Amino acid sequence: MRREPSTMPDRTVSRIFKSGRFVALAIAAALPAGLAFAETRLLQSPAMRVDIDSQTGKWSLVDKTSGVRWPSEGAAGAGAAGGLASEFAKTAASPHRVRLETAGGAAVNFELVDDGRALEIRYEGEAVGDVRVLDDALAVTAADEGYAVVPCREGLLIPAASGVAFSQTFGASDYEGCHMNMIGMIKRGSAIVATWDDAYVFAELKSTLKAGSDGSQRLSAGFNLRPSARAIRLAPLGNGDWNTLAAGYRRIAEAKGLAVTLREKIKQNPHVQLMVGAADFKLWTCLARRMNEESTAEESVRVRWTFDEAAAIAEHLHGDLGIERCLFMLGGWTAGGYDCRHPDNLPANPECGGNDALANAVRRIQRLGFVASLHDNYQDMYRDAASWNPALIEKKPDGSLVTGGRWLGGRAYMVCAPKQVELAMRPQNLPEIQRLFAPWSYFIDTTYAVGPRECSDPAHRIGRNDDIAWKIRLSDEARKLFGIFGSECGREWALPHSDFFEGLVGVSGKYYHNLDPAKLGAMVIPFWEMVYHDCQICWGKYGYSANEAAEFVAHHAICARPLYYHSVPDHLYWKEKPAEGAAPSGDRASYARTDGGWAEGLHPLDAFVKNTQELLGPLYAATAHDRLGRLEFLTPDRRVRRAQYGEGGAATTVVVNFGDGDAAVTSALGGEVLLPPFGLVIEGPWFAGFYAKKWGGREYPGGALFTLQAVEGEDLQTAGKLRIFHGFGDPEIVWKGARYEVAREMVITPGG
Ligand SMILES: [Zn+2]
Repeated sequence: MRREPSTMPDRTVSRIFKSGRFVALAIAAALPAGLAFAETRLLQSPAMRVDIDSQTGKWSLVDKTSGVRWPSEGAAGAGAAGGLASEFAKTAASPHRVRLETAGGAAVNFELVDDGRALEIRYEGEAVGDVRVLDDALAVTAADEGYAVVPCREGLLIPAASGVAFSQTFGASDYEGCHMNMIGMIKRGSAIVATWDDAYVFAELKSTLKAGSDGSQRLSAGFNLRPSARAIRLAPLGNGDWNTLAAGYRRIAEAKGLAVTLREKIKQNPHVQLMVGAADFKLWTCLARRMNEESTAEESVRVRWTFDEAAAIAEHLHGDLGIERCLFMLGGWTAGGYDCRHPDNLPANPECGGNDALANAVRRIQRLGFVASLHDNYQDMYRDAASWNPALIEKKPDGSLVTGGRWLGGRAYMVCAPKQVELAMRPQNLPEIQRLFAPWSYFIDTTYAVGPRECSDPAHRIGRNDDIAWKIRLSDEARKLFGIFGSECGREWALPHSDFFEGLVGVSGKYYHNLDPAKLGAMVIPFWEMVYHDCQICWGKYGYSANEAAEFVAHHAICARPLYYHSVPDHLYWKEKPAEGAAPSGDRASYARTDGGWAEGLHPLDAFVKNTQELLGPLYAATAHDRLGRLEFLTPDRRVRRAQYGEGGAATTVVVNFGDGDAAVTSALGGEVLLPPFGLVIEGPWFAGFYAKKWGGREYPGGALFTLQAVEGEDLQTAGKLRIFHGFGDPEIVWKGARYEVAREMVITPGG
């Protein structure tokens, strides 16, 4: 197609935003079909100005608040796709929309949506095909001080100036992909967020060294839109940073109905309140049976805890350690032990005591005010299951069965999502489990962990979006029966359909399972908490060593999340003498210390549970209905971080030192505070705590852990009575000029 010189007057399409309504200022008439002119079309709102070349589809966006232009120079393409190879032949325009169409019928539609706050780029017509878009628009450089924010588990901040080249795809809802449907970009202090609604969006972040026009490192976000994904939105957010992105995205998430708060969940089901500030304690697995690959022969079998022992452990945590809130989860209660013979899981296995013993254990656990939860799975099926039926399994395009991992039960086969709901809701599954044991909570593994699935079985063909819809169904059905529902890892689409995520905060004592932030030059930031802290109970997953966990504890502190304890020794472990090992030493073992403190002489697991739960349980309880509203880096290396949950006098702040050396900070209650590596200081209206070398004018050269809680009155400053907990280190603490010696814990009466 020959490009005609423009002979048309510069007709623009613009509009203003007034009292929530658009008013058209000038409306361009649609061009006659079949003709195209090199003409710039303009879309305007108070937030942005978008210039579009009607012939090539090249465009640019100016954020009116910040003055920053995306892309910085030149123009961005309308999207690379088979159907968009030729120039556009037809233009249609209205005040808020410009639609460009090729002779072949493929179209790109630019539209101002969300009251002018976002530009939607939408592809129409059968001929378009897969689209790749935004690499050029959303590119930032080191010289721009550019960076990306990716909502993968807690969140990644990926600076352009990292010196690291990489290319990484974050698929919508994939395992360690985008756990929210967004990617944020910042350049020259101006923020923009790309959002979408379809599971066939695959974001690719690419970092290339010396590729910016100024020769500096360049970081770009491109998006592959496969079949059903036809649109992406860009919302410029003006001047700002990661805090601006989080606030801007929260507004979008609220409009989509995703941000269902914990307050609303508690209103629906008061048992959820028992999860606020609760530790996650999991017995993995009561009956541990390992089958061979074919699930035909047993390789090993071991009872790790009987159901009676499980209840006794819960009673020990409550009675001996003073743990008040706990999600107490049992794995391997099923016939055969986890995850053998799934999905045929009744009766509860006789090796651990059978149905009556499990029902009794659940009663004993819940009598403590703990929430009992049973661990189950409907995605994996094994050859030895009585219900084994290849018809229920996902099929590849060639009709063969889709296999999963090699787990305890043998080789897993992947049950297609609609069939998972069917199996779970059989009378002998969830309904009977609820009737027999009545736990207040249920956990179905992998539902929010595995990425969206596809199945080619003509009897139950599904795509990625269908898979999510069926998983929502499964969640809703389980939640209706048991009350509290949770699953593994977590995705934002599950927020309205569940109460807790296990795995979002971290994995195996690390930030990620497979992803290595260093390979992206990235740092981990609690972005999830900035968007959704007030919406869901979240923990990490998979076991880890308490003696290596200080950074993990510090990460939980900045996230204001309690810890999970999944590495539990067999049977009534605290009655056994633990294996002789070297006393924990080094900064990474800090939170396993007991010297001079509450848990001195106790089992190492109990000591770690007590130290960390005293610190993190109340921190979460104090912040559960707030978001992380302000995250700041206090040092140029960004390793000393401050998080503020809530606003004004009700705010709780957490300062954490992720650096290798000591860090001096100041706080309202502690004054000059010296934080060792992984040290922290927490201050809120009714709860404070620290692991520090100096606090309240007192030096602790070896480091000490204390917490303070108002027990009479709601405010630490004015409380008639304060409870002080001492974890380890020098037992003296100074409060309002008075010195207190606290060996384990003490209630003081300040000024009394
Ligand atoms: Zn299927």
